Amino acid sequence: MNSLLTGLSFTAQRALLLVLILAQAGFLIGHLMYQRAYIEGNASRILRNTTLLEKEHFETTLVAMRYQLRVIGNAILLNHTVAPDNASPFLANELKRKWLNAAIVFDEKGDFVASQSIFPLHLALNETTLRTGSFREQALFNDFRQHDINESLFYWRSNGTDPNLVGFVMYRAIRDPHGKYLGGIVGFFNSSSMEGMFRGMEKEGFDLGPHGAMAVFDRGNAIQLARMGMGKLAGPRAHDPGLARLMNYADDSAQVHHYVSPIDGVPRMGVFLNINDGKWVLATGLAKQDVFHGWKSQAIWTAIAIIVIAVSQWLLLHYMHANALQRERFAQEARYDPLTGLANRRYFDDWTGKACRLAYRRQKPLCVIAFDLDHFKIINDKYGHDGGDAVLKAIGQILPELIRSEDIAARFGGEEFVIAMVDTNAECALETAERIRIAFETCHVEFNGHIISFRSSFGVAQMTDDELQSSEGMKSVLVRADQALYQSKLAGRNRVSLAS
Ligand code: GH3
Ligand code: MG
Ligand code: MG
Repeated sequence: MNSLLTGLSFTAQRALLLVLILAQAGFLIGHLMYQRAYIEGNASRILRNTTLLEKEHFETTLVAMRYQLRVIGNAILLNHTVAPDNASPFLANELKRKWLNAAIVFDEKGDFVASQSIFPLHLALNETTLRTGSFREQALFNDFRQHDINESLFYWRSNGTDPNLVGFVMYRAIRDPHGKYLGGIVGFFNSSSMEGMFRGMEKEGFDLGPHGAMAVFDRGNAIQLARMGMGKLAGPRAHDPGLARLMNYADDSAQVHHYVSPIDGVPRMGVFLNINDGKWVLATGLAKQDVFHGWKSQAIWTAIAIIVIAVSQWLLLHYMHANALQRERFAQEARYDPLTGLANRRYFDDWTGKACRLAYRRQKPLCVIAFDLDHFKIINDKYGHDGGDAVLKAIGQILPELIRSEDIAARFGGEEFVIAMVDTNAECALETAERIRIAFETCHVEFNGHIISFRSSFGVAQMTDDELQSSEGMKSVLVRADQALYQSKLAGRNRVSLAS
């Protein structure tokens, strides 16, 4: 089969196309994977840089908080620039700062000197402390007083009535220049203050995408202190085991991790950075659906393109194959007789036209043998038309074996046949005709349980030089061969005659 330039078999063409399709798909998939890695690399860099920058921001804010508490404590307890009577209004004024929600100044015994809060203090302090207006009975504050502790920062959660109120407490000791303990100040910062900071960032255009999130967690308690972005309302205010697992990611080097958020169930890639000496974790996460949104639609379109291209290539190959088969069939039908498989008259004329020119040029003899079955009507009458056909078919099978492959045998119609033999003189052609005659005579065709014998009369003619160079030469030699054939019939059939 020669349907393609390659001349490969259809199976080989299909295998080749399959390899080609796989190579195309492989190339496109490779390209997509490269792009995905590139996008992921960029997102990771942005995440790390953003989180490291935000850590700076946080630590700067913490420094400002420390500074503010020291200024308040010094003013009231050390320098006395604020009189005890003025202490509460002074504190109230300080609470206007966006990050400070409550402040209590107490003396060296733990008794309150001044306190102010923008939330009911019973949410933060126990009943004894509130009633006595003193931290005297609190073990923690006694520890602060007795030991050389200047500052402490700890997680704080409302005791019962409002579990959503979480935050942290910053304690600062106030000492005179000789180190004598004068008392201390505690500042309460609740989560909404921290979220206020995030809100400020959002207003300034800080954007983590529609499903991104940034949050601060208390590491030891696995509790979310503040959050911006998605899942803002869903954040756990109680210890969460899923969150505790994520806290293990926290480090100082801002490594990127892939995880599903236990807070809002969104798959993210994110960075968990230690802040505040590892007590807290600053987490920044970009949703994978946001990061890979464009890539995903590209991947889907590429997959569709791969399928469409592969299917069209496959269909095209099969269409071309069917087309080639049909062309081949048409060519076959145009050249050969369907019953015997021998050449038809048209092909015989084409073939001999070329053969004559070649024979003339090379000065080689060319002979034709014409034969017609004897009393074929009788065979048809005796065995039916199908019986006659069986004989014609048998001739189609045995004749090619009796002539050389460089010669041609054709059925001219009915039970009349012609053979053209190149490079053959009359003597040789007569021998061949005789061989064929004997072969027919001894041939037995099986048909429907019968054995059919048949015979044939032959006429042989060699082309003259004039006939070889004339376009009508073949017609003329066939007439002479037919005349010889007629002589054979007249002389009693089943014999060979040579044309004059
Ligand atoms: P002869 O040539 O010896 O003089 O006698 P014949 O019986 O062969 O005479 P003729 O050539 O006149 O008859 C040829 C017969 O061949 C007539 C026709 O029915 C039959 N015939 C022609 N083509 C076919 C064919 O394709 N199949 C069959 N079964 N018979 C065919
Ligand atoms: Mg006839
Ligand atoms: Mg006949």
